[in-house]
Amino acid sequence: MNRQRIESAQYWLARMGQRLHALWEKVVQPPNSIDDPETMRRARVLNRILVIIIPTTLVILVVQLAVSPIEKLPISTTFSSVIMGFASALLVYIVNRITGNFRFVSYLLIAIGIVAILVNAFSSDPPHLEISLLVLLSLCGTLLFSMWETILLCAVNIILLVVFAAVIGDMPDDILKDLVVYMSLVQLFIVFVAYQRNVLEADRQQLALAAANHELLTRLITDLSHDFRTPLAIVNTSAYLLARTDDPLAREEKAEQINVQVQRLSKMLDDILMLSRLDATPDPTLTLVDVDSLLTNLVQDFQYSMERKNLHMNIDLMSKPPPVIANRANLQRALSKLIENAVQYTSENGSITLRTRLIVTMLAIEVVDTGIGISQDDFPLIFEYFFRGDKARSSDEGSTGLGLSIARRIIEMVDGKIEVESVVGKGSTFRVLLPTNIPHTRRLH
Ligand code: ADP
Repeated sequence: MNRQRIESAQYWLARMGQRLHALWEKVVQPPNSIDDPETMRRARVLNRILVIIIPTTLVILVVQLAVSPIEKLPISTTFSSVIMGFASALLVYIVNRITGNFRFVSYLLIAIGIVAILVNAFSSDPPHLEISLLVLLSLCGTLLFSMWETILLCAVNIILLVVFAAVIGDMPDDILKDLVVYMSLVQLFIVFVAYQRNVLEADRQQLALAAANHELLTRLITDLSHDFRTPLAIVNTSAYLLARTDDPLAREEKAEQINVQVQRLSKMLDDILMLSRLDATPDPTLTLVDVDSLLTNLVQDFQYSMERKNLHMNIDLMSKPPPVIANRANLQRALSKLIENAVQYTSENGSITLRTRLIVTMLAIEVVDTGIGISQDDFPLIFEYFFRGDKARSSDEGSTGLGLSIARRIIEMVDGKIEVESVVGKGSTFRVLLPTNIPHTRRLH
């Protein structure tokens, strides 16, 4: 019987605990319109503080009412400070519950604090500035997340104290000195707390970065194993069949399949190595590169593959383009990836145009094709590692999904930009913008 009672009491307590917890979560929940998780977390922390302050000040008020003589209450500075603290906390809580703008809430709290200091300073007799400052500072200290804002507010508080002393005029020097020393120590403490909080914040960000890097690595490994598996499976099957047939035609076909897949694998490895090399040497040697001669050489490299698809090449280069600041070998690689894609994604009898023009101080190099175009869904993804559109995925033409990642990395390394415009079924334009003037910070060879 006794045991049953204990168990039912335990159950009842657990239920109560759960309900109280659910109620607490509901009361401190910020508006759902805040979509940044970090701001949401901060707004929730503020609500928790306010939800503790509001009933605490209420209890203090009740105690004050109970113990102080009624006629003295309206002139008691402690009483008015507590009312002010209660009202400000309630107001900020309500605003923080209904608006999704946390920055506004922060500044509202600061404004209330400053007004409270001034009202208290001018209305109390004798003035007790320190009480309202204590209420305000503890709130602001937990709210201000930037070191700069915290230091600024602390300085403003000390200045306000001195201004206040000057305004009331008859504050004895030794009391003012004590107050300034006391206030400065409080401000120093708040700056220290803010600094500690920033350190914690930085740690948290670092952890988030490490988690993101880990996720990227995991995704790379998954993509890599997936992308290596398909050609390896074809090589495996072809080698198996090759060993079991005497038909010279079938043998030739299988050998060719093996050859194609081995080339594809080696291209993938080359691209991966290229990306890792680019990451390892983020500051390549820069020279002045003549884009005209570079493009002319590239066109020759693609002559054979273009003729195979009967593609027409239009060359529309500006006369005497200014040299660009780049690493010649890298730039050649990046442009070659763009032309290779243009050839790959343009059907037979289409055309490819190479164009250069000057846009302010940047030289624009455009590779325009009349190919399949890029769908709206693929648009944000094409520069991602290993991303391949459906058409590329189903084709066996050695697409690795790394070409555009490499091109963009190279172009951005020299402070250039790469832009894309595309219409499905009509074609795509890849525009590379490169600086033509010499930045002071880089050394030319
Ligand atoms: P891939 O080796 O697959 O060509 P890229 O990184 O060079 O890898 O390109 C990523 C994807 O972007 C391609 O799979 C393709 O879907 C799309 N793409 C790139 N260039 C073009 C283009 N000129 N026309 C149409 N689609 C393109």
